Amino acid sequence: MLNIVLFGAPGAGKGTQSDLLVEKYNLNHISTGDLLRKEIADGTELGKRIKSIMDSGSLVSDDIVVEMIDNAIARDTQGILFDGFPRNVAQAETLDKLLAKHGRKLTCMISLDVPREELIRRMLERAKISGRSDDNEETIKNRLKEYEAKTLPVAAYYEGKGLHVKVNGYGDIKDISANVIAEIEKRK
Ligand code: AMP
Repeated sequence: MLNIVLFGAPGAGKGTQSDLLVEKYNLNHISTGDLLRKEIADGTELGKRIKSIMDSGSLVSDDIVVEMIDNAIARDTQGILFDGFPRNVAQAETLDKLLAKHGRKLTCMISLDVPREELIRRMLERAKISGRSDDNEETIKNRLKEYEAKTLPVAAYYEGKGLHVKVNGYGDIKDISANVIAEIEKRK
């Protein structure tokens, strides 16, 4: 059973590549960002607590997302594509434990590599149409800062385990996807 982490900075194209991979391998797409946005849209207690944090571009607390991931793994029967999780090394360590608890292990972490200027360009472009309240210039800067300070070390964590695979994320969507799939095929 495939258990893949799709990794990359905000704007790296995780959403687009997730859709293609989920369809190809019939995976369960678990995006913590989507799950959190749904809590806000549904007006739940949790949603009310996290809205201002998400609007600022900072990370919400580990406990919240870890519980979501634990539930998702428990329910899944087809394999998972993790998108937007883990976002820091503590979350990565927890993911290893949760997968082991359910008798699974990570297939690999695919990291989409995109130059910083291109990330900013894409996010500003997306901001015009997404309607996401965290797609504005100030928040984008904070999201990239959070990524560089807290999330980037996750790549080194999986590198140490021989599970980190870097793929060029700049160029034609179909070429990127073909490269991602080729890497998964080597490891599945
Ligand atoms: P995303 O849709 O993945 O870009 O996530 C949007 C926002 O949701 C982030 O800026 C964080 O505030 C929050 N978020 C999503 N995933 C996580 C996570 N794994 N840990 C903490 N915060 C998260």
